This record gives sequence, C-alpha cells and structure tokens, in this order.
Amino acid sequence: MEQDETWQSDEYGISYEGRVGVLLADGTTPGPVYFDSASGPSGWTVRHWSVYDGSGYPDRPKAHVLRAECACGWTGDAQTVDWEIASGRPFHEYRTEKADQCLEDWDRHLMGVAHISSSEALLRLTVSCSDVCDGGVAG
Ligand SMILES: [Zn+2]
Repeated sequence: MEQDETWQSDEYGISYEGRVGVLLADGTTPGPVYFDSASGPSGWTVRHWSVYDGSGYPDRPKAHVLRAECACGWTGDAQTVDWEIASGRPFHEYRTEKADQCLEDWDRHLMGVAHISSSEALLRLTVSCSDVCDGGVAG
C-alpha cells in the first residue's frame, strides 16, 4: 500500500515538494483515507491519489481530477479522471494516463522556478553593481 508519493528535487528540497493532488467533483480536496489495521489496534491513513477510487472498505471518495501540487502553492493543470477508462482495474494503474502527466507538469514548474531564481540572482548582481557605480560617481 502506497501511503503517499512525493517528488523532491535536490536543488529545492521540501519547499518545492510535489505530489499528485486529488479534487472531488465538488472541487474539494478529500482528506486522507483511514484504513483499519486487521491485526492491531491502530490503522493508518493514506492520501496517495490511487486510494480515491470511490470503493468501499473503507469508504472513500472518488477522484474527479488529478493535478500536480507543489509545496510552494502552485498547482498544475487539472487532469479529469476518465472513469470509463479507469474503472474495472486497480486505480493505481491509471498512473500512465494522468499521474505521470502530473509529474511532468511539476518538472516543468521547477524549470520555471529555476528560471525565476536565476533572473533574481542576476537582478541582485545588477543592483550591487549599480550601488558600486553610484558610489563611484558620488565619491
Ligand atoms: Zn512550486
């Protein structure tokens, strides 16, 4: 049982941690699904996208949309789940249709982040240079 699956890059660590997020048909994010332990007093909770297949034991909501989510607050394009395709087999096999797309979206998002940080670094360089130059003119 996959409890959750997150993606991290070496460069950005947990502040840009990504995962496949789930939205229900009403636009809300489902809470973790609680599984009873058959052999012990305590169960465990799972928020991996593949548990939201609408089945019972335990009761769980049915995913309407999969999308990439990032710890920075960014979310990727919504990938509507096609239950015509997804039903009749374990939901985690739906990965190839949509969940992998989420990972690609998140990868592209990180490339955008890398682009922004390098322009910021460039901006800082420009500012410190102009500080020096202004100082030179004034002095
Ligand atoms: Zn992000």
